Amino acid sequence: MYTGHAMSCLFCKIVDGTIPSTPVYQDELCYAFADINPQAPVHVLVVPREHIVSMDECKQSNCNLMGHLLWAAAEIARAKGLGKGYRAVLNTGSDGGQSVEHLHVHLLGGRALSWPPG
Ligand code: AMP
Ligand code: ZN
Repeated sequence: MYTGHAMSCLFCKIVDGTIPSTPVYQDELCYAFADINPQAPVHVLVVPREHIVSMDECKQSNCNLMGHLLWAAAEIARAKGLGKGYRAVLNTGSDGGQSVEHLHVHLLGGRALSWPPG
């Protein structure tokens, strides 16, 4: 299986272990770890092992992978007992508030979240 890797990418380095993280879940397609600056009692990032810049870069061939990331987030939410609900967010591009250019799903939960986000 080809897994694109960008040398200068923070999350590629987290996926390959060059930069340490607190693992939450992993499988052949994705890696999930604790956000270093949590915005809720549960704040996990689910990233594809493959380097994809953002949702804006997704191709139809990434459909299975994208679904897998959401499934993994749901599994993590169940494992963490977020039965009252949670939020899965993909910040995309500068207006979307994306600061790391490796696609990631934020899983936020453990408190009531306000809407709309800022
Ligand atoms: P975004 O702003 O949507 O691109 O989200 C990037 C997220 O990555 C932020 O919530 C950061 O707190 C988080 N983050 C940045 N560096 C690290 C790191 N070394 N380990 C874990 N999370 C990180
Ligand atoms: Zn990357």
